[in-house]
Amino acid sequence: MEGLRVVKDLLAPQTPCSRCQSAGCPWDRLAGQPICPDCQEALAQGEGEPFIVRTERHRCVICQQPGTVRYLTYPLHSAEPVEMDLCPRHFQALLARRLDRHAYHQLSRQLQTLGFSTRQVFLLHEAFYDEQGHSLQPVPEW
Ligand SMILES: [Zn+2]
Ligand SMILES: [Zn+2]
Repeated sequence: MEGLRVVKDLLAPQTPCSRCQSAGCPWDRLAGQPICPDCQEALAQGEGEPFIVRTERHRCVICQQPGTVRYLTYPLHSAEPVEMDLCPRHFQALLARRLDRHAYHQLSRQLQTLGFSTRQVFLLHEAFYDEQGHSLQPVPEW
């Protein structure tokens, strides 16, 4: 499937965070760089060093737009991470946990075809989205 895949045999899953060097868990990878939850939060808030990457020639898993950034994350209870291709807009929206309803549903559907539930992936997002993908908390505009 385009835009979403389970990654087998990820190289060096325990590589420390590329920003703060904290180690101990397999971190999510943004454009291939391991980034811990704290640093992702900082990025989402627009703090710290700006995150500048080249986009790749794939299509966004949500909107099919070409020009994407890879976002790799570990679903709950899964030893193997999933990686998705996201356009810059949806990449930022996911990072900031402010996907709109349509995007949330689209991504949920794709995840389900790989056998993951949305909850496994959006664990950290439960405070932000309800079952229908409504935003529960107002998030400041950038
Ligand atoms: Zn970090
Ligand atoms: Zn998109």
